[in-house]
Amino acid sequence: MNPPPPIELASRLRLRHVSAMMTSAGLHHITALSGDMRRTLDFYTRLLGLRLVKRTVNYDDPSSWHLYFGDALGSPGTLVTFFSWEDTRQGQPGTGEAVALSFSIPPGAAEFWAERLNDEGVTFALDHTAPTPVIALHDPDGIGLELVEDQDMGASHPPMLSDIAPEHAIMALMGATLLVDNIEATARLLIDVFGWRETGRAELPGFERLRLESDLSRIELLRGENIPPARRGIGSIHHIAFRAESDEAQAEMVVALRKMGFETTPMLDRTYFRSVYFREPSGVLFEIATDAPGFTVDENIETLGQKIILPNQFETRRKEILAKLPEL
Ligand code: ZN
Repeated sequence: MNPPPPIELASRLRLRHVSAMMTSAGLHHITALSGDMRRTLDFYTRLLGLRLVKRTVNYDDPSSWHLYFGDALGSPGTLVTFFSWEDTRQGQPGTGEAVALSFSIPPGAAEFWAERLNDEGVTFALDHTAPTPVIALHDPDGIGLELVEDQDMGASHPPMLSDIAPEHAIMALMGATLLVDNIEATARLLIDVFGWRETGRAELPGFERLRLESDLSRIELLRGENIPPARRGIGSIHHIAFRAESDEAQAEMVVALRKMGFETTPMLDRTYFRSVYFREPSGVLFEIATDAPGFTVDENIETLGQKIILPNQFETRRKEILAKLPEL
């Protein structure tokens, strides 16, 4: 993929500054489990038009990949990341896990995506009955994806970098759908700790649905009767990360969580952000990730994602680690 010309990047940087003035903790990234990283790389970059912004390894298991995809800069709120779990069984969606993730696309772009997916032989459904058109599909590992036409949710995000024209391109990570067994408990957490607001509710026999939004993100909570717990594996969404504008903001959220009785991990340095993890009341793994330092901490914007970057603790074993990684 060609790097963007510098002038274009400067205008993207200015645009990005606008979105930093947020008042609630929107999504930072979502991480899922890939059964075939080459296939995942092709699907998210070539087909969906995201940029590979970091090529590194799983810090807990350096024999497997961890790839990050996002917009031209790897901005918080545009990122999806994948661990490779190649020798594992297929996951089973269920309660206590995110079951789908969504991206925002510009108004009018659904037809373009319908045609593109059709040409690629990807099965999808185009829903015109939703408030704005939504395309539902699955990635090659079976992860539920939605492309949602939306002006507001992605207005401050720069278009992704690819062959796809900006008027069609994915703008940002928009949200996720979570299967939970206690909708009110998860909603309380999103409202009280992250500053989200309830924007829609539906109740049908045996089925409940609640929508919550932050300035730039949306989460759907679903509860159905007799839905077994999720079984983690290939195609599972591993965790959902929320943004913290600063370390102080993250620390405040952690204090609020502990007051509510949640157990949180110590802060962990993930090189590109600093993270605290906890499980929400139904068991979905949540993370609070800082905006800083971002993906240019060890690569230039122009060359993001081109080199294999290892964290310091693995640098001395570079040759051995690279030899074990599956080819991309
Ligand atoms: Zn994460």
